[in-house]
Amino acid sequence: MTDPRTKPTTTDAGIPVASDEHSLTIGPDGPILLQDHYLIEQMAQFNRERVPERQPHAKGGGAFGRFEVTGDVSAYTKAALFQPGTTTEMLIRFSSVAGERGSPDTWRDPRGFAVKFYTTEGNYDMVGNNTPVFFMRDPMKFQHFIRSQKRRADNNLRDHDMQWDFWTLSPESAHQVAWLMGDRGIPKSWRQMNGYSSHTYMWVNAQGEKYWVKYHFKTDQGIDFLTQEEADHLAGADGDFHQRDLYQAIERGEHPSWTLFMQIMPFAEAESYRFNPFDLTKVWPHGDYPLIEVGRMTLERNPTDYHTEIEQAAFQPNNLVPGIGPSPDKMLLARLFAYADAHRSRIGTNYQQLPVNAPKCPVHSYSKDGAMRYRNVSDPVYAPNSKGGPRADSARYGEPAGWHTSGAMAHAAYTLHKDDDDWGQAGTLVREVMDEAARARLVSNVVGHLEDGVSPPVLERALEYWRNIDGNLGERIGAGVERQ
Ligand code: NDP
Repeated sequence: MTDPRTKPTTTDAGIPVASDEHSLTIGPDGPILLQDHYLIEQMAQFNRERVPERQPHAKGGGAFGRFEVTGDVSAYTKAALFQPGTTTEMLIRFSSVAGERGSPDTWRDPRGFAVKFYTTEGNYDMVGNNTPVFFMRDPMKFQHFIRSQKRRADNNLRDHDMQWDFWTLSPESAHQVAWLMGDRGIPKSWRQMNGYSSHTYMWVNAQGEKYWVKYHFKTDQGIDFLTQEEADHLAGADGDFHQRDLYQAIERGEHPSWTLFMQIMPFAEAESYRFNPFDLTKVWPHGDYPLIEVGRMTLERNPTDYHTEIEQAAFQPNNLVPGIGPSPDKMLLARLFAYADAHRSRIGTNYQQLPVNAPKCPVHSYSKDGAMRYRNVSDPVYAPNSKGGPRADSARYGEPAGWHTSGAMAHAAYTLHKDDDDWGQAGTLVREVMDEAARARLVSNVVGHLEDGVSPPVLERALEYWRNIDGNLGERIGAGVERQ
């Protein structure tokens, strides 16, 4: 090597290598030798570069930033990250749901909005979406729903017949489907969409008083969307449109931000509220529970390595810190298990030691050993012990953020509250939130979707489904389908 400023290439063991260009052979034209350990290391490592992609939410991108508390919600939660004046480092990952890791960013789909707050009391993760509701309310159906959105077994193609078959046989999907087929189903950029917890969570204050809450991260860039035509064009012209937009905005110094608002319901009101407040297919109308400002999240730093900082980032809704707990939302309760299980399977049991996932506060866990662990519990390796090991502080952290319930074991639907049904809130969205231009785009989007391979019996059910959401809208969609 001639230039002393150039770093010499080494193997992964740090041993300088002889050549970046030529394998070791017997003579210039001879066979390759097995002792070319650098060539073999390069080939073997290459074969192992990919970890399994996420199932679902495979395609995504993210950035680092900070969350600053601007309001005062200390009356509702003792969580350290939400106390007045606190700033917390955070990571966000945006994603689409059904597409694979190389799929276009502009396919119509909900978008993931997963946030990790590195708080002083451990990592707090909120694995939200850009929609306040979801397609179902019971986790038994989630796996089937995602399969219906992905690819058929026979031809490996996505299939609108399969999607409408599932949706029309699952009327609780109506609110989310109406939302998805509207303008917000294809955001213009990740910067121009809101994020919602969708789930109801519990907050607990310093006095032990409990509240039911929903999170709303409202974009400070303003909401904007792509029409179906614009999105279709971009799917071919720039499949990474959203990823590029976020990356370039941050590189330019345009740091996107979101203001966090909460809806807060006193604990005792849940029972008599007109909607079951734990049903993931419902919102709490703002008129019932107005938004309360909490703080601002600002994205300031792009990852420098996509694989280690985004692909291996692991968000899990069971990462709940003191002052925040789950609710009886069945979808949430199942997700508390499913996410960590996915990470163990996809990245390995010690994924929480990777720098992007590691808490920035001390860890005193008794977890031990396993593949790729590099920092371990020291003796004593068990609890209880009399050897000075960590001890649970039950006086401070013993009281669960929980609720009382009773009843016989059953495979049962949620208890219905006064105004609960599958169609009402979807109809409100179409009639009272969308203007006529948005409704016309909704009709066109649905007609275009239904025309694409939906079989007659499923199509009939789909038209009935839309008439149930709104009679007039259903007629317009029916007429649109007939005209084609
Ligand atoms: P509001 O009029 O107080 O709120 C309507 C909400 O709809 C706003 O949050 C608005 O978001 C959002 N919105 C506007 N245009 C669209 C669109 N094309 N697609 C989806 N959302 C849109 O009414 P209510 O709180 O009484 O709710 C009425 C309906 O609004 C609900 O049935 C639900 O479908 C929808 N909605 C309600 C939300 C809630 O948490 N209450 C949240 C989001 C939607 P923005 O302020 O960002 O423009």
